[in-house]
This record gives sequence, structure tokens and C-alpha cells, in this order.
Amino acid sequence: MSRLSALRPSHFLPSLLLLLAGLAAAYVRDLNVFFTSLFNVLPTLVLLLGGAYCAVYRRQRELFLMVTVYIVYYLLDTQTDFYRDTGKVRDDAAVVFHLCCLLLPLLYGLFGVWEERTHLFQDLVARFAVLLAVGGVALALEQSFPAALLDALAQIHWPMLHGHWMSLIQLAYPMFFIAFVALIVQYVRRPRPLHAAQLVGLIGLFWMLPKTFILPFTLNILCSQVMLMIAAAVAHEAYQMAFRDELTGLPGRRALNERMQRLGRNYVLAMTDVDHFKKFNDTHGHDVGDQVLRLVASKLSKVTGGGRAYRYGGEEFAVVFAGKTLDECQPHLDMIRELIANYKIQLRDPERPRDDQQGRMRRAGAGASHVSVTVSIGVAERLIDHRTAEEVLKSADQALYNAKGAGRNCVVAFAPNRRGAIRNKASA
Ligand code: GH3
Ligand code: MG
Ligand code: MG
Repeated sequence: MSRLSALRPSHFLPSLLLLLAGLAAAYVRDLNVFFTSLFNVLPTLVLLLGGAYCAVYRRQRELFLMVTVYIVYYLLDTQTDFYRDTGKVRDDAAVVFHLCCLLLPLLYGLFGVWEERTHLFQDLVARFAVLLAVGGVALALEQSFPAALLDALAQIHWPMLHGHWMSLIQLAYPMFFIAFVALIVQYVRRPRPLHAAQLVGLIGLFWMLPKTFILPFTLNILCSQVMLMIAAAVAHEAYQMAFRDELTGLPGRRALNERMQRLGRNYVLAMTDVDHFKKFNDTHGHDVGDQVLRLVASKLSKVTGGGRAYRYGGEEFAVVFAGKTLDECQPHLDMIRELIANYKIQLRDPERPRDDQQGRMRRAGAGASHVSVTVSIGVAERLIDHRTAEEVLKSADQALYNAKGAGRNCVVAFAPNRRGAIRNKASA
């Protein structure tokens, strides 16, 4: 359940947009000189820039994915250039093309699921060795036994499974299928932008191969787009690392600081702190504490009234309401406070029953353990004497301090005349 909820359309969006742009560009006929020149240099340009970018971030997996795509581009581009110039295919066109159809999904799938685990240098050597071994064997076979290799590749191995729609060699389809399933499993197990980009990239390559000799520049455009997808995913993940809090998935302190620089004239800031959280951690353990922080974050992320929640640090969260007044925001904050206080958190039993029915019975019985937490909220709006967002946040913090003093589980607004006077005490 938690895994499925982590699947996000935003992981797929940049790659899908790049794929759609690539498909649209591939169908454009009669390209002018500018685009013809651009598409001729694009794959090399993307490899150099994207490869350098991956190297800076020490992302070897992504670098090898790009290199694999580029090698296939290079091999097939030599063939399509010859075909475009002479109107004929080269003698080795069929065997090179079939080899690419077989080895591209194999290497792309392999490098895609092969995570960097060991020492970076060993990892680099291992990947390079695989690329060299597969490439070397293919080259040796192609040079020594071209006719036999072509026969073996082009043969229909399973006549029962052969469809007339198959425009690639039959062997390529199981290879693409295995790579696709492996990449889907990887994404479901660990949903992240890179894993999503690899999947969309594989679809792009699968679409590209049969069109290589049919649509001019399909090869250049799709290979560039797939390499761009991978580079964009690295950028996406770097952004997430810098601006997202890993535990809760909310934007973090850095994102809050940036947001606070461009808040305009009217806004409200709220500081939220979990009550007696240290005691909670001491009683239930740090893991359960983390579970509760995730839950509080997920509730806060649903705050209504145009608010946006950030993890400020530890068990403290900030909520920003841009263009709003204090009176407009307070009901929404009180609603979220109440929602959190009324939520019964079911503790994960470390000795969970393996059997579903047993689990259901145990949950229904007296043994089920529930806990709840409350939060205190201090809130402040921008006033004449609050010149910066940092000052407003400080006032919200002051109001939070007063909320703790007022018995916790309440929302308190900063009142400039009576520093932190209680405006809204929870009825709970
Ligand atoms: P108060 O009601 O006055 O806020 O009491 P408190 O115990 O919540 O306040 P205090 O600031 O003393 O304690 C905060 C605790 O939050 C300390 C630390 O154990 C816990 N904490 C901070 N960050 C994390 C985290 O990422 N995970 C977990 N599990 N606990 C955290
Ligand atoms: Mg605290
Ligand atoms: Mg606290």
C-alpha cells in the first residue's frame, strides 16, 4: 500500500513530455537546414553534456545507459547515412541492425537495473568489462561468421508466437519484454524519477527501432530524447535531494527559505510542533516516531486554504499561506490540528502475524494498539513592523511557545500588542 502510494505521475512527466516531443519531431517531413544540422549533432551534444553532468554527480549507471544508447545510435547512423546518400543499404546493414535490436534491450535493461553498490572505481570497471565483452563477442561473430550470424538472428525460433506485426527479429521481442518487466519491477519497488525515465526511455527505443530506415532522423531524435530523459532524471533527483525532506516527502528547510524570499506583501506563516514528542520517542521507539512524523506531514500537506507545508526540522513544520490574512488561515489550521488529534495511529506490531485473517482478528481484538499525537501551532501574519519573512517566522515561533504554555494541542496567533496572546484555544 505504502509502495503504491509512492508511485507519482511527476516521476514520469518530464520523460513523457520528451518522448511526445520526440515522436512529434520524428514525423515532421521536409525539415529545413537548421533542423537537419541540429539533429545531426544533437545525439553527440547530448552525450557530451549529459555524460559530463552524470560524471560530476558520479552517476555511472546513467552514464553507461547513455553510452549504450549512443553506441547503437552511432552504428545505425552510419547505416542510415549510407542509405540516405546512395539509396542502397550497406552489405552489413541487416546483421548490424539485428544485433542492435537484440543487444540494445539487453544492455539497456542490464545497466538500468544494475545499481551502484560497490566501490565506484570497481563499479566502473565492471560495467566497462560487460560492455566490452558483449560488444567484443558481437563484433567477433559479425566479422568471422556474418552469414551464419545473420541466419541465427533472423530465424523465426517460435513460429507459434510469430505475429505479422513483428517488424524486428523475433529474438528482440522477448529481450525487450524482459527488460521492460525488470524495469517495471524496479520502479514499483523503488519509485524514483530515474527508474521512471528508464522505463519511458525503453518504450521510446522500442518504438524507434522499426522506424530507423523509414522515418529520416527518427534515430537521431529518439536517441537524443532518451539520453535527455536520463540526464533530466538525474537533475530531477538532484533537485529533490536538495529541496525535499527524505523522511516525510515534504519540501524541506531549503525550499522554505527560498519560498520566503518571494512571498510578496501579504502572507501568513505558521509553525507547528508535535507535542511531547521526546516522550513519545522514548516510549515507542524512534521508528514509530518516524512513522508518526510521516503521518503528521501527510496530514499537514493536505491543509486547506491555500497553505503549503514544509518540514522545518526535527518534529517542527512550517506552513506558508501566501496572499492570505490571519483570519482567513486560522480556521484551516485549527481544522488540521483537530484532524491530527483525532487520528488514531495504528502501531505496526513487530511480531506481525503472517496470516491475513489472523492479522484482522488481532486488529479487531483487544490486543490492537492505537496511539495519537497532538500538535501545537503558532501563527503570525506580516505586519507593518515585520519587515522580513524571517521576522514573521520568529513571531510565529513566539506564538508557538505560548501555545505550549497554554496547554498544547491548540492554535495561537501572535498578537503584537500583547506578545503571543491566546486567540484560539482548542476545545479538546
Ligand atoms: P514539546 O511538547 O514541548 O514540544 O515537547 P517535545 O518533547 O516534543 O520537545 P523537544 O523539542 O524537547 O523534543 C523534540 C524531539 O523530537 C527530540 C527528538 O527525539 C525528536 N525528533 C526530532 N527529529 C526526529 C526525527 O526525525 N525522528 C524521530 N523519531 N524523532 C525526532
Ligand atoms: Mg520541537
Ligand atoms: Mg515538540
